[in-house]
Amino acid sequence: MKFATKVIHAGIEPDPSTGAIMTPIFQTSTYVQDAPGVHKGYEYARTQNPTRSVLESNLAALENGQYGICFASGLAATDAIIKLLNPGDEVISCNDLYGGSYRIFTKLFQRYGIGFHFVDMNNVQNIAEKITENTKLIWIETPTNPMLNIVDIKAVVNLAKAKNIWVCVDNTFASPYLQTPLDLGADIVCHSATKYLGGHSDVILGAVIVKEKSLADRLHFIQNASGAVPGPNDCWLVLRGIKTLHLRMERACQNAASVAEFLITHPKVQKVNYPGLKSHPQFELAQSQMKLSGAMVSFSLKDDSINAANKILSGTKLFSLAESLGGVESLIGHPATMTHASIPKEEREKTGVTDSLIRLSVGIEDIEDLITDLKNALQ
Ligand SMILES: *Cc1c(COP(=O)(O)O)cnc(C)c1O
Repeated sequence: MKFATKVIHAGIEPDPSTGAIMTPIFQTSTYVQDAPGVHKGYEYARTQNPTRSVLESNLAALENGQYGICFASGLAATDAIIKLLNPGDEVISCNDLYGGSYRIFTKLFQRYGIGFHFVDMNNVQNIAEKITENTKLIWIETPTNPMLNIVDIKAVVNLAKAKNIWVCVDNTFASPYLQTPLDLGADIVCHSATKYLGGHSDVILGAVIVKEKSLADRLHFIQNASGAVPGPNDCWLVLRGIKTLHLRMERACQNAASVAEFLITHPKVQKVNYPGLKSHPQFELAQSQMKLSGAMVSFSLKDDSINAANKILSGTKLFSLAESLGGVESLIGHPATMTHASIPKEEREKTGVTDSLIRLSVGIEDIEDLITDLKNALQ
């Protein structure tokens, strides 16, 4: 099956008892057994839920994996992955990372004796230097947030495979329509389905996708033992969102490319970060690794002040000022005071998160309206 067919059909069958073409929302906590231990494969809804199972099969197919395991949020998915590790184990992560992932790594799991190193993954050598015999996992986000750097997944996999280290890719920013890291040799893919997969800013949900049965068994154990499962309504919303993933991504990426081209010529703009621009330092890598260049754009101003940024942040009418990304509507955000506020100014500026940096999640509205909105706000 090709991608546009998979989003609609993979793992999805009409309901056998009624023929309902849409997956029913199985709003139940338990299942009646014929005799003790004699049941239809469902015992208790933390462990199994048919709506969730359909979403899990669909996600496994989209990422070209074998097993999908869904969680109550993207961070609950991250939590489950780190619980594969033991005290003393070490993780190497990119330094330009989703703030919530940084927080769970450093404020929670570090306390349980797991070590974390944060490196600039633009150069794979930086990873090699941090590898010890305790390194168990390399954590990649690509494109990164909010600088839209691209990490060479294949190069990291080559380094990790030789040393039996798992590679996990947080594929939230790209979505499986743009890149499928398992095909490049990654062991684990995770998602905040809250973003592009759900796509309509109406649900919080997370997912992990793997190929190997032993990893899936361990993750299913953690899913059931820790219990951070999504409800059937939320699973259904994500299933519905996924049906248009390919159409939404096409339009959003096309809009983002036009927005980036507009911004780069604007006299008030200092720098535009977008992997689809020829000026992006990893333009070639992005072209080879991703189907399209994504729908996230960030840019800084010549007047690199919070004041100048504020004028734009409060000046747009279509781009709504909000955290999150990946919905049909366009959003505008200010990393320095929003997502990256907890990182000291000096630290965040090292990775490029300066006072005037503005992040856009470009939606699927009419592109002329979006550009007019930005033009007006920049004036
Ligand atoms: C939003 C996000 C998460 C966390 O997901 P939640 O669903 O909000 O818990 C993780 N990684 C990335 C890249 C994200 O954008």
